[in-house]
Amino acid sequence: MTIDLAPEPFVADLAQRTAAFVRDVVLPLEARDGVVAPTPERRRELQDAARAAGVFAPHVSAEYGGHGLDMRGRATVFEEAGYALLGPLALNIAAPDEGNMHMLEIVATDEQKERYLRPLATGEIRSCFAMTEPAPGAGSDPRALLTRAERIDGGWRINGRKWFITGADGAGFTICMARTSGEPGVATGGATMFLVDADNPGMKIIRHIETLDETLFGGHCELVFDNCEVPDSAVLGEVDEGFRYAQVRLGPARMTHCMRWLGIAKHARDIAVRRANEREMFGSRLVELGMIQQMIADNEIDIAASRGLINQACWELDQGRSGAQSTAIAKTFCAEAIYRVVDRSLQICGALGVSGDVPLSRFLREVRPFRIYDGPSETHRWAIARRVARHAATSGAGR
Ligand SMILES: Cc1cc2nc3c(=O)[nH]c(=O)nc-3n(C[C@H](O)[C@H](O)[C@H](O)COP(=O)(O)OP(=O)(O)OC[C@H]3O[C@@H](n4cnc5c(N)ncnc54)[C@H](O)[C@@H]3O)c2cc1C
Repeated sequence: MTIDLAPEPFVADLAQRTAAFVRDVVLPLEARDGVVAPTPERRRELQDAARAAGVFAPHVSAEYGGHGLDMRGRATVFEEAGYALLGPLALNIAAPDEGNMHMLEIVATDEQKERYLRPLATGEIRSCFAMTEPAPGAGSDPRALLTRAERIDGGWRINGRKWFITGADGAGFTICMARTSGEPGVATGGATMFLVDADNPGMKIIRHIETLDETLFGGHCELVFDNCEVPDSAVLGEVDEGFRYAQVRLGPARMTHCMRWLGIAKHARDIAVRRANEREMFGSRLVELGMIQQMIADNEIDIAASRGLINQACWELDQGRSGAQSTAIAKTFCAEAIYRVVDRSLQICGALGVSGDVPLSRFLREVRPFRIYDGPSETHRWAIARRVARHAATSGAGR
């Protein structure tokens, strides 16, 4: 039996047009203005251009102005968009907005969709997702969640502190995860997601955190919720179901991060191969030297294996399966493989690689934190091993 992994024709066409848009529009704009801390005007310029090219919002359904791609379709298109650092921003598929749109489409009420999803899908507003807290609060272990929401007449009052909240500065709203039952660290208990408008006086951005990466729009911020009052209509989904919804968001969001960063890995690979073909030393071209060939081959292996694991996990998600194990495997492998590809590519280029004349050192800085967010590699390995052990215990495998 043969398995046809070719994307459907409309996906292949969108991917091709996305690649052309990135090459002809996004990369020249990056070369003109740089990639660090893009301004709202540049975001608008990029998104208008993507709209004009017919490649805007490939992930949301047609009802919200998108192309309605499933996860496997996204894998093909997002990889092309990710070839440029600002490609995802242009297509409105950058983190955290893309993951938030995905979750709102599944969980939000019709009223919430009109108020939050529609303007997010058109690019009119941005959003952020506030889960992580400074120690001893929630990080790798969500059970440590300290931010609390208590019932008040007609709504909820939220108190707590969040940090590393990507895109918070300038976001139209925040999806805040707060504890609504149970005690931190004892048992998971119940958490609830709340839609908090940016102008809520109880929510404040207290600082921008300086980080290794610098191109994600709106920075990474620390937020304080100080007696932040929201109405009942701000509850996203059901009360106490926040951890379950987080999985709705995090599994696919993990994969879309892999897809976008795989595009950067390919870009790094292309720069290195071009350089290796041109550079001469010791009487031959660099590309003819065995140790360089090994690095070039290892890059291809890492890229192909990443793509394969993403596709497998996306196929499971498209089947309606949880994909818990396959997304954890793919995320762990991709985060490490993509870093390896960028690092090898930089090495092949020698001093040029660390210079500002090529974007490789920028790529390296941007991909390194991916081994920490969306679950550190160690957390995923721990969870993968526990699932395997549980399965072996119940299935009797190995006896
Ligand atoms: C650039 C960036 C952007 C981010 N954006 C957001 C955002 O928008 N919203 C949001 O809510 N959060 C965001 N985060 C936070 C991110 O989700 C957390 O950093 C991540 O969950 C890890 O939590 P922590 O930093 O508290 O590390 P900790 O929980 O303190 O973990 C520290 C280390 O412990 C190790 N470890 C973890 N689990 C295990 C285990 N089971 N066994 C052995 N060792 C283990 C790992 O090496 C890990 O790096 C972002 C982080 C970064 C770096």
